[in-house]
Amino acid sequence: MSRKLIAGNWKMNGGLAANESLVKAMLAGLAAPACDVALCAPAPYLAQLQELLQGSPIAWGAQDVSAHEQGAFTGEVSAAMLKDFACRYALVGHSERRQYHGETDETVATKAQRALAAGITPIVCVGETLAQREAGETELVVKRQLAAVIHAVGHCITEIVVAYEPVWAIGTGKTATPEQAQQVHAVLRAQLAAATTNPKRVPIVYGGSMNAANAASLLAQPDIDGGLIGGASLKAADFLTIVAAA
Ligand code: PGA
Repeated sequence: MSRKLIAGNWKMNGGLAANESLVKAMLAGLAAPACDVALCAPAPYLAQLQELLQGSPIAWGAQDVSAHEQGAFTGEVSAAMLKDFACRYALVGHSERRQYHGETDETVATKAQRALAAGITPIVCVGETLAQREAGETELVVKRQLAAVIHAVGHCITEIVVAYEPVWAIGTGKTATPEQAQQVHAVLRAQLAAATTNPKRVPIVYGGSMNAANAASLLAQPDIDGGLIGGASLKAADFLTIVAAA
């Protein structure tokens, strides 16, 4: 791993005017970041991000991608459509998609495949719920989620990003401790090492209440290669502090 990745996930927030001022404030505070930086926006705003961010150090991406290539799938957005707006990334399998939209490990794996086939880097989200952690199933759950993607994409596994996002830490203000996160990242790294000779090529980023105050200690862990930032990506100053910590 050379450069870390800090990716914002705006979720279903924003609007034309708010996005513009947020992005402009971020760009104004970002000269030459030492890490890769990206913003994942709701699909209708990808054209706006393309316009605002083209030629800047910030890449942009989608929050989801269809598992289908094209056709009668009302409401879906295909990987090719995201590519039309020069998305570098697409989140796949975010826990909110798994929880509220019934996405299975297999759906998520297919989505990762679709993204890769279109030249988009899938940021594959994995993570356990509180009940699963308390039942001692954390390792089992994240390995099962990642295994489906490894199985589906084969040697292209080196082209993905993995995001470890414990569900109990997302939007709750309850961050995993650096040690808790590192422990799971090491498990995921070992799983990648069994699938590719170059497991360090795959960034494993942490997400779940990462903020300006706790980013540095999380990013200091040997297997934490960046962050997926929800709430704190809606505030330019906070996001820039996290970028500076990477
Ligand atoms: P959070 O969200 O930073 O608001 O916890 C992270 C995510 O869901 O990607």
